[in-house]
Amino acid sequence: MQSVKKNRVIKVRSVHVEVGEFTMIIPEFLRYNYDIIKENYPELAESQIVITSTPGKVRCKACGAVTEVSFKKPAADGADASLAMMNPGAFACSACGGTDTSIAGGREATVKSMRVDD
Ligand SMILES: [Zn+2]
Repeated sequence: MQSVKKNRVIKVRSVHVEVGEFTMIIPEFLRYNYDIIKENYPELAESQIVITSTPGKVRCKACGAVTEVSFKKPAADGADASLAMMNPGAFACSACGGTDTSIAGGREATVKSMRVDD
């Protein structure tokens, strides 16, 4: 939040955060925490957090392909996603079907943009 103060931003309207599926960050939990952070930063008081999920990526040790792994989340509490994470088959290479893969992306949570009034 130091950059906000340094640039004399009056009001932040929205903060866009990209969350990789392998971070295990639950969007609802992030929103809840953002509301707590807002209480300490008047610049953020009227802002909204926008969270988008980016797919996880795995690198296949058999064929070398880097492919996306996306967990469908039909349940609002993310319970199904957690189950998928515990299933090794969920990390299978979508190019060759190999299951000997390592995580190649989706472990990041990044602030992509911030919309402000000045
Ligand atoms: Zn493969």
